[in-house]
Amino acid sequence: MELLKKKILEEGEVIGDDILKVDSFLNHQLDIKFLNEVGKEFWLKFRNDKVTKILTIESSGIAIAVMAAQYFDVPVVFAKKNISRNLETEIYTSEVFSFTKGTTYQIKVAKKYITAEDRILIIDDFLANGRAVLGLKDIIEQAGANLIGAGIVIEKGFQQGGKNLREAGVNVYSLAIIESMKGGKIVFREN
Ligand code: 5GP
Repeated sequence: MELLKKKILEEGEVIGDDILKVDSFLNHQLDIKFLNEVGKEFWLKFRNDKVTKILTIESSGIAIAVMAAQYFDVPVVFAKKNISRNLETEIYTSEVFSFTKGTTYQIKVAKKYITAEDRILIIDDFLANGRAVLGLKDIIEQAGANLIGAGIVIEKGFQQGGKNLREAGVNVYSLAIIESMKGGKIVFREN
Protein backbone atom coordinates (compact mmCIF):
# COMPACT_ATOMS: atom_id res chain seq x y z
CA MET A 1 0.00 0.00 0.00
CA GLU A 2 1.84 3.07 -1.29
CA LEU A 3 0.23 5.54 1.09
CA LEU A 4 1.35 3.41 4.05
CA LYS A 5 4.92 3.14 2.76
CA LYS A 6 5.02 6.91 2.32
CA LYS A 7 3.80 7.48 5.87
CA ILE A 8 6.32 4.99 7.28
CA LEU A 9 9.16 6.76 5.48
CA GLU A 10 7.99 10.23 6.48
CA GLU A 11 6.84 9.62 10.05
CA GLY A 12 8.38 6.32 11.21
CA GLU A 13 11.25 6.20 13.66
CA VAL A 14 13.59 3.22 13.77
CA ILE A 15 14.64 2.15 17.27
CA GLY A 16 17.77 -0.01 17.24
CA ASP A 17 17.75 -2.35 14.26
CA ASP A 18 14.39 -3.98 14.67
CA ILE A 19 11.69 -1.77 16.22
CA LEU A 20 9.66 0.71 14.21
CA LYS A 21 7.84 3.46 16.03
CA VAL A 22 4.80 4.81 14.22
CA ASP A 23 3.13 6.65 17.05
CA SER A 24 2.00 9.57 14.89
CA PHE A 25 -0.59 7.53 12.96
CA LEU A 26 -0.93 3.99 14.32
CA ASN A 27 0.22 3.34 17.88
CA HIS A 28 -0.49 6.49 19.87
CA GLN A 29 -2.13 9.18 17.76
CA LEU A 30 -4.55 7.63 15.27
CA ASP A 31 -4.87 9.04 11.76
CA ILE A 32 -8.48 8.09 11.18
CA LYS A 33 -8.72 9.03 7.51
CA PHE A 34 -5.63 6.97 6.80
CA LEU A 35 -6.76 4.06 8.98
CA ASN A 36 -10.03 4.06 7.09
CA GLU A 37 -8.04 3.38 3.91
CA VAL A 38 -6.20 0.59 5.73
CA GLY A 39 -9.51 -0.96 6.77
CA LYS A 40 -10.76 -0.74 3.17
CA GLU A 41 -7.63 -2.54 1.88
CA PHE A 42 -8.32 -5.49 4.16
CA TRP A 43 -11.91 -5.57 2.99
CA LEU A 44 -10.85 -5.52 -0.68
CA LYS A 45 -8.62 -8.52 -0.04
CA PHE A 46 -10.99 -10.64 2.07
CA ARG A 47 -14.44 -9.40 1.01
CA ASN A 48 -15.38 -12.65 -0.75
CA ASP A 49 -14.39 -14.89 2.15
CA LYS A 50 -17.62 -14.62 4.11
CA VAL A 51 -15.89 -13.27 7.19
CA THR A 52 -18.26 -13.26 10.21
CA LYS A 53 -15.94 -11.73 12.82
CA ILE A 54 -12.71 -9.83 13.14
CA LEU A 55 -10.39 -10.83 15.97
CA THR A 56 -7.53 -8.74 17.33
CA ILE A 57 -5.61 -8.07 20.55
CA GLU A 58 -5.95 -4.99 22.70
CA SER A 59 -4.95 -2.27 22.38
CA SER A 60 -3.21 -1.32 19.13
CA GLY A 61 -5.15 -3.74 16.95
CA ILE A 62 -8.55 -2.41 17.93
CA ALA A 63 -8.63 0.79 15.89
CA ILE A 64 -7.58 -0.99 12.70
CA ALA A 65 -10.00 -3.85 13.29
CA VAL A 66 -12.85 -1.39 13.80
CA MET A 67 -12.08 0.43 10.56
CA ALA A 68 -12.10 -2.84 8.64
CA ALA A 69 -15.21 -4.11 10.41
CA GLN A 70 -17.25 -1.17 9.12
CA TYR A 71 -16.68 -2.44 5.58
CA PHE A 72 -17.28 -6.11 6.41
CA ASP A 73 -20.26 -5.18 8.58
CA VAL A 74 -19.25 -7.70 11.24
CA PRO A 75 -18.38 -7.40 14.96
CA VAL A 76 -14.87 -6.99 16.31
CA VAL A 77 -13.72 -9.18 19.20
CA PHE A 78 -10.52 -8.19 20.93
CA ALA A 79 -8.58 -10.56 23.12
CA LYS A 80 -7.98 -9.09 26.56
CA LYS A 81 -4.57 -9.03 28.14
CA ASN A 82 -5.48 -8.16 31.69
CA ILE A 83 -7.31 -10.13 34.30
CA SER A 84 -10.44 -8.24 35.12
CA ARG A 85 -12.90 -9.18 37.80
CA ASN A 86 -15.85 -8.91 35.50
CA LEU A 87 -14.46 -11.09 32.71
CA GLU A 88 -16.65 -14.09 31.90
CA THR A 89 -15.74 -17.35 33.61
CA GLU A 90 -16.07 -19.33 30.36
CA ILE A 91 -13.00 -18.20 28.48
CA TYR A 92 -10.45 -19.35 25.95
CA THR A 93 -6.88 -18.46 26.88
CA SER A 94 -3.54 -18.62 25.16
CA GLU A 95 0.01 -17.48 25.90
CA VAL A 96 1.79 -14.82 23.88
CA PHE A 97 5.43 -13.82 24.14
CA SER A 98 5.67 -10.07 23.61
CA PHE A 99 8.43 -9.05 21.25
CA THR A 100 8.42 -5.42 22.35
CA LYS A 101 8.17 -6.08 26.11
CA GLY A 102 10.19 -9.31 26.32
CA THR A 103 7.62 -10.97 28.60
CA THR A 104 4.91 -13.59 28.23
CA TYR A 105 1.30 -12.66 28.82
CA GLN A 106 -2.05 -14.41 28.60
CA ILE A 107 -4.76 -13.43 26.17
CA LYS A 108 -8.37 -14.20 26.91
CA VAL A 109 -11.59 -14.30 24.92
CA ALA A 110 -15.01 -15.11 26.37
CA LYS A 111 -16.27 -18.33 24.80
CA LYS A 112 -19.62 -16.84 23.90
CA TYR A 113 -18.03 -14.45 21.41
CA ILE A 114 -16.47 -17.09 19.13
CA THR A 115 -18.41 -20.10 17.90
CA ALA A 116 -17.60 -23.02 15.63
CA GLU A 117 -19.66 -21.35 12.87
CA ASP A 118 -17.46 -18.26 12.81
CA ARG A 119 -15.17 -17.40 9.90
CA ILE A 120 -12.55 -15.22 11.46
CA LEU A 121 -10.17 -12.64 10.08
CA ILE A 122 -7.31 -11.73 12.41
CA ILE A 123 -6.12 -8.14 12.21
CA ASP A 124 -3.06 -6.65 13.89
CA ASP A 125 -0.76 -3.65 13.57
CA PHE A 126 2.63 -5.40 13.36
CA LEU A 127 3.92 -8.85 12.53
CA ALA A 128 7.34 -9.64 14.01
CA ASN A 129 7.86 -13.20 15.24
CA GLY A 130 4.21 -14.09 14.85
CA ARG A 131 3.46 -14.86 18.47
CA ALA A 132 0.42 -12.59 18.72
CA VAL A 133 -1.16 -14.10 15.60
CA LEU A 134 -0.32 -17.62 16.81
CA GLY A 135 -2.03 -16.93 20.14
CA LEU A 136 -5.17 -15.76 18.34
CA LYS A 137 -5.00 -18.73 15.96
CA ASP A 138 -4.82 -21.02 18.99
CA ILE A 139 -7.99 -19.47 20.44
CA ILE A 140 -9.78 -19.80 17.08
CA GLU A 141 -8.80 -23.48 16.98
CA GLN A 142 -9.97 -24.05 20.57
CA ALA A 143 -13.35 -22.66 19.51
CA GLY A 144 -13.44 -24.89 16.42
CA ALA A 145 -13.91 -21.77 14.24
CA ASN A 146 -12.38 -21.13 10.81
CA LEU A 147 -9.35 -18.91 10.40
CA ILE A 148 -9.77 -17.05 7.10
CA GLY A 149 -6.53 -15.10 7.21
CA ALA A 150 -4.44 -12.48 8.95
CA GLY A 151 -4.45 -8.84 7.85
CA ILE A 152 -1.32 -7.08 9.04
CA VAL A 153 -0.51 -3.41 8.61
CA ILE A 154 3.30 -3.65 8.88
CA GLU A 155 5.20 -6.92 8.57
CA LYS A 156 8.89 -6.94 9.46
CA GLY A 157 10.06 -9.41 6.85
CA PHE A 158 13.47 -9.84 8.45
CA GLN A 159 11.80 -11.54 11.42
CA GLN A 160 10.36 -15.02 11.14
CA GLY A 161 6.64 -14.55 11.87
CA GLY A 162 5.42 -14.10 8.30
CA LYS A 163 7.43 -17.02 6.96
CA ASN A 164 6.36 -19.35 9.77
CA LEU A 165 2.69 -18.46 9.53
CA ARG A 166 2.61 -18.82 5.73
CA GLU A 167 4.34 -22.19 6.02
CA ALA A 168 1.69 -23.16 8.56
CA GLY A 169 -0.94 -22.39 5.91
CA VAL A 170 -2.17 -19.04 7.23
CA ASN A 171 -3.22 -16.58 4.53
CA VAL A 172 -1.12 -13.62 5.70
CA TYR A 173 -1.79 -10.33 3.92
CA SER A 174 0.53 -7.48 4.89
CA LEU A 175 0.06 -3.96 3.56
CA ALA A 176 3.78 -3.20 3.81
CA ILE A 177 6.67 -5.60 4.31
CA ILE A 178 9.92 -4.16 5.61
CA GLU A 179 12.96 -6.06 4.41
CA SER A 180 15.49 -4.25 6.56
CA MET A 181 15.91 -1.30 8.89
CA LYS A 182 19.66 -1.53 9.40
CA GLY A 183 21.25 1.78 10.38
CA GLY A 184 17.81 3.37 10.46
CA LYS A 185 17.32 2.98 6.69
CA ILE A 186 13.95 1.43 5.88
CA VAL A 187 13.91 -0.87 2.85
CA PHE A 188 10.60 -2.37 1.68
CA ARG A 189 10.12 -5.75 0.04
CA GLU A 190 8.79 -5.33 -3.46
CA ASN A 191 5.28 -6.77 -3.74
P1 5GP B 1 4.87 -10.75 17.17
O1 5GP B 1 3.85 -11.34 18.09
O2 5GP B 1 4.57 -10.97 15.72
O3 5GP B 1 6.27 -11.16 17.54
O4 5GP B 1 4.85 -9.19 17.42
C1 5GP B 1 3.72 -8.46 17.03
C2 5GP B 1 3.22 -7.60 18.14
O5 5GP B 1 4.28 -6.92 18.80
C3 5GP B 1 2.30 -6.56 17.57
O6 5GP B 1 1.01 -6.75 18.08
C4 5GP B 1 2.88 -5.23 18.01
O7 5GP B 1 2.06 -4.66 18.99
C5 5GP B 1 4.22 -5.53 18.62
N1 5GP B 1 5.35 -5.16 17.74
C6 5GP B 1 6.28 -6.00 17.20
N2 5GP B 1 7.22 -5.33 16.53
C7 5GP B 1 6.88 -4.03 16.62
C8 5GP B 1 7.50 -2.82 16.11
O8 5GP B 1 8.54 -2.80 15.44
N3 5GP B 1 6.86 -1.66 16.41
C9 5GP B 1 5.72 -1.60 17.15
N4 5GP B 1 5.17 -0.42 17.35
N5 5GP B 1 5.12 -2.71 17.65
C10 5GP B 1 5.70 -3.92 17.38
